[in-house]
Amino acid sequence: MDKRIYLCLAHMSGEEQKYIQEAFDTNWVVPLGPNVNAFEQDLENFVGEDKKVVALSAGTAAVHLALVACGVQAGDEVICQSFTFCASCHPIMYLGAVPILVDSESDTWNMDPELLENAIQDRMARTGKKPKAIVVVYLYGMPAKIDEIMAVANKYDIPVVEDAAEGLGSRYNGRICGTFGKYGVLSFNGNKMITTSGGGALICGDQEDKQNIMFYATQAREGYPYYQHEKVGYNYRMSNICAGIGRGQMTVLEEHIRHHQRLAALYEELFDDVPGIVFHRNPSACYDSNYWLNTITLSPDLHVAGEEKAYMTVVKGAVGGAAGVTHTVENVHTDCEPNRNVEAMRVVLDAMGIESRPLWKPMHKQPVYRNVPAYVNGVSESLFKVGLCLPSGPWVTEKDVHMIVKEILKNIK
Ligand SMILES: *Cc1c(COP(=O)(O)O)cnc(C)c1O
Repeated sequence: MDKRIYLCLAHMSGEEQKYIQEAFDTNWVVPLGPNVNAFEQDLENFVGEDKKVVALSAGTAAVHLALVACGVQAGDEVICQSFTFCASCHPIMYLGAVPILVDSESDTWNMDPELLENAIQDRMARTGKKPKAIVVVYLYGMPAKIDEIMAVANKYDIPVVEDAAEGLGSRYNGRICGTFGKYGVLSFNGNKMITTSGGGALICGDQEDKQNIMFYATQAREGYPYYQHEKVGYNYRMSNICAGIGRGQMTVLEEHIRHHQRLAALYEELFDDVPGIVFHRNPSACYDSNYWLNTITLSPDLHVAGEEKAYMTVVKGAVGGAAGVTHTVENVHTDCEPNRNVEAMRVVLDAMGIESRPLWKPMHKQPVYRNVPAYVNGVSESLFKVGLCLPSGPWVTEKDVHMIVKEILKNIK
């Protein structure tokens, strides 16, 4: 193999350099500045619906500030989709609040609206209080059943935070994901639809909301000649350098989305008549996923080369190209893990220079959330056991997809 094919990597447009240089030339290297304002304007134009956008240091920071702005305090309950990346849920813990985990439906893999209503009613019956917010996620870019979720949320008058970190540019009934609820979260991490080398944004309803988020993102300072604090603030604003990268990336966003979608159409076609493999696609014409990551599920009775040896060796580092430090583990097994054939497929693809990764492990199966209330139907747990994310994004070519699928088929016994 002459190159390694990664799950999803950022791709520069070439325009980034210009905006970064401008920041240096004008000595605007601090947070706030012309690139931040212009990047926010670009994002506002893109999401439409008269929304306002605040650029922040990370998508995780955007989730955190959305919850702060919803008035979440220690001891409050916040409903969160269980089937997600940890950053949808961890900020609930930062605030000392209690996550209430809700499982997914099998069409979109996102929050099940019926289970959401059951959870709200049960929490009200048990605690006498309503949950303070609902965090719904667009997993792998797939729109959720957001009309139904909004109907439930509106019925109980609970604000919705849409975690569209993976769903930049996805649409539901033609409307951009992240613009349905009170707040919408975006991420510009290096592996998302576009990057600022690390960053995020919060979509807000109006200028007043935006001002409030910016207040909390810049240490919550009162208007005195000295630093006067009446609230606890955060240092979460995006820097002018990062925003310069973001401006360059905005010039290729539409093109990137179309590329992800083209790859999806090709994966779908190539897996179409393969028994035991199902490509996760838009369930109907209402859904228009950006296909941030293309995903498949492998039937448990599909046999994969080397599956008898799956889980024999401890994984070193993080699977899926993530940076950072991982703890070394003693035991290769946990009480909830992908099936052997899925792990075997990951290993054979990895040996061929093709990066793949299991689906997110649901939060209600994570030891760190062992003791929080969960409303489950088995959907996310069973998907986790059979699912695999495949290379997607601007660096992956259609030729690569043909090769990846060929490699997958070759290893089915
Ligand atoms: C990436 C991601 C985030 C967090 O974004 P960062 O910019 O990495 O902090 C939040 N939620 C989901 C679902 C994500 O995939």
